[in-house]
Amino acid sequence: MKAVVPWISEELRGNIMSRKLLAKPLIKQIYADLKAEIEENDWHPHLVILLIGEDPAAKYYVENLQKKGKKKGITVSTKLFDITITQTELLWEIETLNESTDVDGIMLQKPLPKHLDESEIVMKINPDKDVDGFHPLNMGNLVLGRDGFIPCTPNAVLKILDFYEIETSGKHIVVIGRSDIVGKPLANLLLRKNSTGNATVTICHSRTKNLAEHTLQADIVVAAIGKAEFVKAEMLNESAVVIDVGVNQIPDPEKGYRYVGDVEFQASFEKVDSITPVPGGVGSVTTAMLLSNVLKAYKKLRK
Ligand code: NAP
Repeated sequence: MKAVVPWISEELRGNIMSRKLLAKPLIKQIYADLKAEIEENDWHPHLVILLIGEDPAAKYYVENLQKKGKKKGITVSTKLFDITITQTELLWEIETLNESTDVDGIMLQKPLPKHLDESEIVMKINPDKDVDGFHPLNMGNLVLGRDGFIPCTPNAVLKILDFYEIETSGKHIVVIGRSDIVGKPLANLLLRKNSTGNATVTICHSRTKNLAEHTLQADIVVAAIGKAEFVKAEMLNESAVVIDVGVNQIPDPEKGYRYVGDVEFQASFEKVDSITPVPGGVGSVTTAMLLSNVLKAYKKLRK
């Protein structure tokens, strides 16, 4: 199951031989394809992000997305609302965006203030503009193996497995985490009868007993927990491929803070077959999947 891709540069191959499943070569390819298709056809996809309240982390994320989108020919605009916006007002705003022929994708930046009903808001988004893939119609299509929008993080995990030619068919994959945005859709995708599916999937969560007993048996472990370095090297077997979805901010004596995954990286890196780093792994591919979904929405709605 060793991850070797023969046609990439020596520098990147060096990293692969040391078994780090880097996002960089993959997103380079995704972005190049995206940009080329948009430029060749003179298309103008447009994503609108709904931002509620002033959150510095959300602002940083959106600005970064705007820069990335601009380079590929995708306009990313924001609608900033006061934290006091009511459910009715927000639903009305979504209705307007649903009807706008200038808008291809609608994304709701989370977390939402507590007084808002997230599930009703997600239900209101036109499923054809639901680039997050969280609308029940898209989730239903995912479970049934029908075409629709696939949530970006699970899709990023599949892309990484596919790019690094990591076989899933017949493999035992342990997904830790059962959230609606990562664990649940990912587990369903890995069950699909296709080239990134056909796995035997075990889903673990906070009530799972003896977690290590499950992870030690896995060919592939996906950690989507939200707890810094929770999965230790001794919980993984030597031939395992590890996909770390977690993004956790921890204190750093020099920089103030830094990001780590849900897997204890260094010791696991030295032990297992392959592992995605944090940062530079799943998160970077997730952003690329979002922009890909915006293009998909554009083609569906306007072509
Ligand atoms: P979430 O909604 O909080 O779900 C966490 C899951 O982990 C839950 O299913 C929970 O179980 C399980 N869990 C918690 N403690 C556990 C334990 N001790 N043992 C086993 N399972 C445990 O989180 P999420 O939204 O799925 O996100 C998970 C992580 O991925 C976070 O670090 C988040 O920042 C990151 N993330 C990254 C990206 C990206 O693009 N890279 C995107 C989305 C999320 P219960 O269901 O029993 O509570």
